Amino acid sequence: MTAEALDPLAPHPAAAGIAAATTDLSKVYGSGDTRVVALDRVSVSFREGEFTAIMGPSGCGKSTLMHCAAGLDSFSSGSVRIGTTELGSLDDRRLTALRRDRVGFIFQAFNLLPTLSALENITLPLTIAGRRPDPRWLERVIAMVGLSGRLGHRPAQLSGGQQQRVAVARALVSRPAIIFGDEPTGNLDSRAGAEVLGFLRDSVRELNQTVVMVTHDPVAAGYADRVVFLADGRLVDEMAQPTPERVLDRMKEYDTRSRTS
Ligand code: ADP
Repeated sequence: MTAEALDPLAPHPAAAGIAAATTDLSKVYGSGDTRVVALDRVSVSFREGEFTAIMGPSGCGKSTLMHCAAGLDSFSSGSVRIGTTELGSLDDRRLTALRRDRVGFIFQAFNLLPTLSALENITLPLTIAGRRPDPRWLERVIAMVGLSGRLGHRPAQLSGGQQQRVAVARALVSRPAIIFGDEPTGNLDSRAGAEVLGFLRDSVRELNQTVVMVTHDPVAAGYADRVVFLADGRLVDEMAQPTPERVLDRMKEYDTRSRTS
């Protein structure tokens, strides 16, 4: 074995153009009668500058895949890497640092701090990391999500859509290697949801951001460059250049198959 292979931060030879990847990733909850195989040997790559949606019926393992790929949850076997870093080789301290420095998160609940202004919420991850925002990047991100006139507002003074835009800007501001969204439009009406999805797509197109989003909504998936489909913890299909109609048709096929099998 070479010295590089022992160093978890050494470049991975196959990493070029891949922001994150799982290989034979499995996650088992419980044991005996309560044993649930939430992920069953899932191998998937997320390319740099690509917007991927993860879809599938409720309980198929979407959130578990996202949490394991983002370093938020442990896994039972297989491997996960973000950029060139194998997550399984990191201790808690290094995993926390990797999440802080390399990963952005957008959740269904906006998770903003109520006592901070929009601007303070956006820059909070950098403040915690002891880093200063690059002023030009910050300006670009704020302009992109259309918050320039709202920076002094507290979350309670903003609509749901505006709060989620703050969360999108917060995820983008540290220029993470990858942003994970867990049903990021789940709490929004369709117009606000469309805006947030549009900003996520713009961040991929204009800023070369990599975004992975869990969703059950074919309309949301239609904003992505690619959809991967999970069923019973397995990766079963994928679709390039999805449209809501094609995604819906594919989902109906699964429903019919699972009813007739
Ligand atoms: P999805 O996001 O597609 O709805 P999840 O990833 O939340 O699916 O769940 C996948 C499977 O793992 C489901 O059968 C679920 O019940 C099970 N599961 C999820 N979290 C836990 C947990 N903490 N303990 C036990 N089982 C869990």
